[in-house]
Amino acid sequence: MTGCAGDRPKSVIVVGAGVSGLAAAHRLVELASSEGRPLDLLVLEARSRVGGAILTRRRDGFLIEGGPDSFITQKPWGLALCRRLGLENELIPTNPDCRRTFVVRDGTLHPVPEGFLLLAPTRIMPMLASRLFSWPGKLRMGLDLVLPRRDHGIDGDESLASFVRRRLGREALERIAQPLVGGIYTADPENLSLRATMPRFLDMEREHRSLILAMRRGRRAAGVAPADSGARYSMFVALRGGMDVLTGALLARLPAGAVETDTPVRRVQHNQGGWSVKLADGSVRQAEAVILTCQAHETAPILEPLDPPLASELATIDYASSATMTMALRRQQVQHPLDGFGFVIPAVERRTLIAATFSSVKFPGRAPEGWLLIRAFLGGATHPHIYELSDQDMQHGVLADLRDLIGLRGDPEFVELHRWPRSMPQYPVGHLHRVAAIQAMAGRWPGLALAGNAFGGVGVPDCVHSGELAAEAVWGLRRPDS
Ligand SMILES: Cc1cc2nc3c(=O)[nH]c(=O)nc-3n(C[C@H](O)[C@H](O)[C@H](O)COP(=O)(O)OP(=O)(O)OC[C@H]3O[C@@H](n4cnc5c(N)ncnc54)[C@H](O)[C@@H]3O)c2cc1C
Repeated sequence: MTGCAGDRPKSVIVVGAGVSGLAAAHRLVELASSEGRPLDLLVLEARSRVGGAILTRRRDGFLIEGGPDSFITQKPWGLALCRRLGLENELIPTNPDCRRTFVVRDGTLHPVPEGFLLLAPTRIMPMLASRLFSWPGKLRMGLDLVLPRRDHGIDGDESLASFVRRRLGREALERIAQPLVGGIYTADPENLSLRATMPRFLDMEREHRSLILAMRRGRRAAGVAPADSGARYSMFVALRGGMDVLTGALLARLPAGAVETDTPVRRVQHNQGGWSVKLADGSVRQAEAVILTCQAHETAPILEPLDPPLASELATIDYASSATMTMALRRQQVQHPLDGFGFVIPAVERRTLIAATFSSVKFPGRAPEGWLLIRAFLGGATHPHIYELSDQDMQHGVLADLRDLIGLRGDPEFVELHRWPRSMPQYPVGHLHRVAAIQAMAGRWPGLALAGNAFGGVGVPDCVHSGELAAEAVWGLRRPDS
């Protein structure tokens, strides 16, 4: 790809119709139409439905998200895409009346202290008053105010666990950073790269030394009073009708017949005219460019015959498996006031659950009047043994935890379990170097681009961005590794 307008591909195949693949295909349609060029577009999806990890189910007046239930607005790409798709009025914020989450300690739910932002407190009094931490733990967190900074070099990296232990102490790691942040990435914080996930915390230390001071200054500069902790959750939005409204809107913008489901891709080969894409049924499709958006462990065998070193680099990206279990309950079945969005459970508590969302409290329209929808998270890198349980044993463990923690009585009206095998890429320390190497190797093949949640972030906005960058790369607007 040279980037000249004359080099635009006339045909592109996108492999995978998760949000990354659909965003890539949609961006190609936008580019072709803005330049008035014809484009032969094909999206090949192995499953019988589009959306990948985005899976919304509607049942008896309940709206169930099997995968993501919302996305962050701080990263602009999800929001920007919704605007371009005309979905802005469909975006709903989290319930403003109970924007808080709980953390379990010794079997009791404690609210995250007001002003606590993921890793560090911005307000001293709520932190001191919280029963989530012991007094030695609170004092150790306060040491962040005086500890010297550590130099990470220009692009240095550190695990989340090492960073939090060093700046704020073991208790801050075990009681809040691991369940809150590790839960988002379903990752073990001992391995999770801070540079690849939340680089701003490394930057805060470099620029301000103390995280607490940096965050207080940041909030003041942004005009947020330290007393207002609301920003924690208003950062997230959902779609009123469910997350599959987004994938449905993307699909609707693609040319009729452009998406073929039940069509697993086996191999890609490069030839004079561009790319041959071999399907599981033995047939072959041709295009001038190809974008692969499957999980890295699924992309690796597709590229193996073409570029074994690239395939083996992709295959080194590790994945965790996770599951969501959504339960429909009558309101009176739960004793807890449910005055928050849900709770997270530190791994040191040794429970079946890693977290639970009070879905019908967090967003309107998730359950009929008088009913509740609660969604449990299971598995991930810290609880792989739980993912291995049978459906029945998993449900038994979840209900036992909910009886104990929120006073659940009786059984749910119905339960929906969604398993996501090897779907959450793990970003270990040094992940960004590996990604740069992979993108550079892929960039040597003209008309090839890689996208998906293995590279620049696991959230929906990151995946949208990744797909759109890949589209712009094969369209000749940027280098694939830029
Ligand atoms: C339980 C869960 C909860 C989550 N919660 C949130 C959340 O609240 N907010 C948020 O922002 N993010 C969340 N995420 C993360 C986010 O949803 C995912 O990272 C994102 O949806 C992944 O999109 P993707 O297109 O990159 O991959 P996928 O959705 O996995 O799509 C890849 C597609 O490629 C297809 N495919 C694979 N192999 C082939 C082949 N050989 N040929 C053709 N097609 C193939 C697959 O069938 C799949 O459809 C969550 C993820 C999970 C699993």
